[in-house]
Formats: sequence, structure tokens, C-alpha cells
Amino acid sequence: MDLTTRLHLLNLVRLSASSESTCRAAERAERRARLRRKEAAAARRRCRSAVRTAPSRDLDDAVEALADAQREYEARAGQVEAAGLRWRRALVASERADARLGGELARTRKLTSAGQPRRKGARLAAEVSLLAELAAMPEDLIRAASALLVQSSGGKDSVVMLDRVVQWAKAAGCLDKVVVVHADIGQEAEWPGVRDLARRQAERYGLRFVVVKAPVGFLGMVEKRGLWPDAQNRLCTSTLKRDEAAKFFTQIVEELGLDEQALLVNCLGIRADESPLRRRKPELAIDHRASNGRRLVLTWHPVFHLTEREIWQEIVDNTLDYHPVYDTLIPRLSCTFCILASFDVLVRAVRLCWVWGLETPKTYVDLEDRIGHRFKNKFSLAEVVAEASRLEAAEGPITWRRGDAIRHHLGKEAADLYLQQLALAA
Ligand code: SF4
Repeated sequence: MDLTTRLHLLNLVRLSASSESTCRAAERAERRARLRRKEAAAARRRCRSAVRTAPSRDLDDAVEALADAQREYEARAGQVEAAGLRWRRALVASERADARLGGELARTRKLTSAGQPRRKGARLAAEVSLLAELAAMPEDLIRAASALLVQSSGGKDSVVMLDRVVQWAKAAGCLDKVVVVHADIGQEAEWPGVRDLARRQAERYGLRFVVVKAPVGFLGMVEKRGLWPDAQNRLCTSTLKRDEAAKFFTQIVEELGLDEQALLVNCLGIRADESPLRRRKPELAIDHRASNGRRLVLTWHPVFHLTEREIWQEIVDNTLDYHPVYDTLIPRLSCTFCILASFDVLVRAVRLCWVWGLETPKTYVDLEDRIGHRFKNKFSLAEVVAEASRLEAAEGPITWRRGDAIRHHLGKEAADLYLQQLALAA
């Protein structure tokens, strides 16, 4: 099966899934409309009974109330009819989308009717196998893409992902399709120099660099909600990063000005060994929420199977620039204080802020105090700062050398080699 057919089938999978969810929503709306009609019928019954038993002085009011109840009932009945019609139409559209996908799958894969995605499970199976096939042919995927958006935090996984995508794109002769997108979540929440580093990493390959930014940054969002986000409610990622990236999807599709549906490949630098949750993610997936008739958006994780050690090895092998935060053995270049970080990492982050003369710990502790909500369930940032003060008094400020992250992960020789190569490249 060629790539165009696979992409065509994936779009049919998307249509089938989307029409099924429209159908489910229409069914729920119809059920709600029936419930409201039932309530209106009960109100009308009560009004009728009131008319029958009302003393003559209250009769006019009771009759008027009954007329209102009758009008309300008729309006509700009309809504039930309209909702029922929408549901039946959605059902037909969903069945057609399923049948079309089933027919195309059967035709292209010579399946029997048993392979038709009448059930969600069969459609998912088709989606999973098509995506796995595509993930195994990165150059072809890049060739087929209308644009490749590399979401870069400037961190170690992002820079390796970018380098990989660039190598594949060069081999496919499509480097001009790559755009690096950096989500700025507010300078006061990020380590200094993150945005400039992400820009330099993109400029190394002569790529377009775009910064997306929500109107309200991380701290503004916390202040407004009066709550810190947590692992279950990662509003910081969804609101400040994903939603802003989705706005750029619209912009790039307009810029492309294609007559047919655009294929956007959205690259994220997440890895399976980061967490059990991430391990369950597929390497390549349809972004159902962001896809529509004008664009099919695929989310791709080009460094999904790399270990942390392999990431550092690629950084050394390709002399990739990384942020000095890693040399202090803070494992992720996330927000200065990430809601997912452990106590020890946060303590180290506070101490690094003090070395660099940053106000961030005070800003966060003041905010925590103001909103009366602990930074994490298990501990507050005030406790983190207290522990950092204790360690600072006992040990003095933290120290590090350039290359310590590589020394830690790969040993002294690799660090020396990296620093030599870096000096030569300067
Ligand atoms: S780095 Fe952590 S705190 Fe910052 S946006 Fe991501 S999950 Fe939220």
C-alpha cells in the first residue's frame, strides 16, 4: 500500500471517529431535550389541576399560568423533534463514514466484510496499524507532509528531536517544510535564556522559528484560578502550549493556501521511558481534536524510543547545544518550578535561582501565600525554600562545570570530547 493510500485511509478513520462522536453528542442532546419536555409536561399537569381547583378569584391567574405552561411544553416538544432529527442525521452520517472506511479498507487490504470497522475496536485496530506503518517510514512521512512543526522547549529531548527531523527532512529534500515552534509560558516562569536557546537551535539549520504565547502566562493563570495545576489537571500544558500551538495550525494552513487537505506533522519530544503514562502513548497518532476538513494533524514523537543516555549520546555525537541548567543535574529544562518535579529537584532549582540572582523563588512563594493553595499536594514551595536554605547554610551555594550533565550520563571522556567539539565549532 502506498503512502497516499495510507494517509487517505487515516483521514477516513478520522472522519469515522469524528462522525461517531458527533452522533454520540447528538444522542445526548436528544436525551436532554426529552427530559426537559417531560419536566414541561409535569408542570403543565400541575397547572391543569390548579385550574380545576382554583377558587374563582384566582381562576384568571391559573388559566394564564396554564397557557404559559402549554407554550413551554410546545417549545420543548419542538426541541425534541429537532434534536431527534439531528441525531438521526448524525447516525446516518456516522454509518456512511464507517461503511466508506470499511469499503476502502476491504478494497486496499483485500479484507472480508469482517474487517469493516462497524465497531470502534475494528476502527482503532486499523488506525493503530496504519500509524505504526507510517512511523516506520519517517522520510516518506516527511515527504508527504505539507509542513512539519517541531515543538521545541529548547530542552535536551527537543534538540535531539529537531536534529533527527532535520536529518530526515534533508534526506527527503524537504528541509523547507520544517518550522520550529516554541511556546513561551512567561519569562518569569522559565529559566533565563530558554527562548534564545530554542531560537539558536533552530537557526543552526536555517529554520523558521515561531514563538506562540497565550495572553496570560503561567503565573497569571495560577493567580486567576487561585490554584496550581497538577498532574491530573495540566492546564499549564493544555492552555499555554497545546491550545496556542493549535492556533498556529490554522495560521500555517492559511499560509500554505492548498486546495486539498493539508497534512501537518506535529513533532513532540516526549519519550516512553519518562513515565508509565508516556509509555502507553503511540509513536504516531492522529490529533483528532486539531484535525478537520482543511488539515489532518498527526502527532509524531521522533525520539519516543530513546533512553536518557541515548539522548545525551546524540547531543555529544552531533555537538548539540544544551542549557546550563542540565549541568547542575536538574534533569528537565521545564519551567523553573515544574508542578511535576520531585521535592529534591525543586530544592536544587531554588538553589540555582539563588546562584543566578533570580527572584523566582520569592515570586512563587508569595503567590502560593496569596492564593492559599499549596504548590503540590504533598508539600508547599515554602517548605522547598526552607530545605534549600538549610542545605545552603550547611554546604554553601551549588557549583557545577560545563559538561557535568554529560560527565554524569556518559563519563569524563565523552564530556571532554563534547567540549572540544563545541570549542572548535565556536
Ligand atoms: S513544565 Fe511543568 S509546570 Fe511548566 S508547563 Fe510543563 S507541566 Fe506545567
